[in-house]
Amino acid sequence: MFYDLAVVGGGAAGFFAAVNAARLQPRWRIAIFEQSKQVLAKVRISGGGRCNVTHACFDPAELVKYYPRGQKELRQLFARFSTGDTVQWFESRGVKLKAEADGRMFPVSDSSQSIIDCLLREAQTYGVEVLLQHDVQHLEPQPAGFQLKFRQGETIKAKKVLLATGGHPNEAGYQWLKDLGLPVVSPVPSLFTFNLPKNPITALMGVSVPSARIRLPEFKKEQTGPLLITHWGISGPAVLKLSALAARELHQRQYRFRVLVSWLPEEDADSLRALFEDYRSYAGSAKVVNRFEVDLPARLRLFLLQQAGIDENQRWSEVNNKHINRLVELLLNHELLASGKTTFKEEFVTSGGVAREAIDFTSMECRQIPGLYLAGELLDIDALTGGFNFQAAWSAGWVMANSVATEKS
Ligand SMILES: Cc1cc2nc3c(=O)[nH]c(=O)nc-3n(C[C@H](O)[C@H](O)[C@H](O)COP(=O)(O)OP(=O)(O)OC[C@H]3O[C@@H](n4cnc5c(N)ncnc54)[C@H](O)[C@@H]3O)c2cc1C
Repeated sequence: MFYDLAVVGGGAAGFFAAVNAARLQPRWRIAIFEQSKQVLAKVRISGGGRCNVTHACFDPAELVKYYPRGQKELRQLFARFSTGDTVQWFESRGVKLKAEADGRMFPVSDSSQSIIDCLLREAQTYGVEVLLQHDVQHLEPQPAGFQLKFRQGETIKAKKVLLATGGHPNEAGYQWLKDLGLPVVSPVPSLFTFNLPKNPITALMGVSVPSARIRLPEFKKEQTGPLLITHWGISGPAVLKLSALAARELHQRQYRFRVLVSWLPEEDADSLRALFEDYRSYAGSAKVVNRFEVDLPARLRLFLLQQAGIDENQRWSEVNNKHINRLVELLLNHELLASGKTTFKEEFVTSGGVAREAIDFTSMECRQIPGLYLAGELLDIDALTGGFNFQAAWSAGWVMANSVATEKS
């Protein structure tokens, strides 16, 4: 059994590389070896069954900002195949995509099956062999290619091999790549929410603010955006982004860290202090609760007053400087101590994988092992939610396919 190209892993990256390579190299014998009973399983369940294929961000310089790790390398990939190319690739094969208000792009059918059918059709058109229940256990570089050994004991030979076996939540999943001499960055979780055990703020579960600034002072990282208070801590897009940006640092701290929240990121301490001084001067007889006009939900306003030691029924004239300073501090720098994390729904993402420096991103070829290519989530590249992970898989698959396109059969 001899193949010109053996693709290990029938996910987004492996499939996209295989079908593009087959179109560009029609005489090559190309096969996808998939360990499970079905290909493209993650595509099927992705985006709640709708498949968030890519994101409507068409400037590569902006696009890379959604990837906490691998921005430099992704710039190279996106310069050659980016979001607009993905839209065009699928549309030219009859799968029209639509963008939602937040930029996520889905097939107009709202069904991941459209993407799966398109990739399967493409594989059939260009003669890509798809072999299910072929679990590659061992890969051995040989003088003129590679030998692949499957769990069942069968072996095949291939001139070139693309590894696209996806991410793994634990280090043991990367052992066989380490055995090949590839450097691996140990995997840690990304995209989670922050637990605030025993913090009284959790009594406000369900309260959300459209724009809060959340800082992790020890790691010099911050995000501004929607924040949701839950019964276990804080969540929402700003928290999730921050968890991804600081995934490795937070793992190192075993998820015990300080969070500073500004509930009013547009305000500064001087203007807030001046506002409260005005209340004291011009509305001294008013009850605090009736004259505390900051743009926050009522429950949160009352909570912050309590935390500052101010009775809501007090008159403004009775509020002293210490209380005002404390209230300003809480509004702009509310310190919360996080301990633990909660994985965000089922959309967990792992940061880590084969180190990027092991790969030449102009071809996706492994620097140490010529003829061996890597693409997709098994690399140390990860993204925020929104279609970015698939885009990285399409781009790497396309670059890989095109790098072998000009080679002689
Ligand atoms: C629930 C969920 C929803 C998601 N939704 C989105 C979304 O809407 N948009 C988005 O951009 N990203 C989404 N993601 C992330 C996205 O699915 C992945 O980034 C993407 O699938 C990675 O593609 P891949 O080809 O690298 O790996 P995978 O899709 O994981 O494919 C790897 C394949 O390799 C096979 N394999 C592994 N080892 C072997 C072996 N030894 N031999 C043979 N085959 C092997 C596996 O069975 C698998 O089929 C989601 C993830 C999850 C978990």
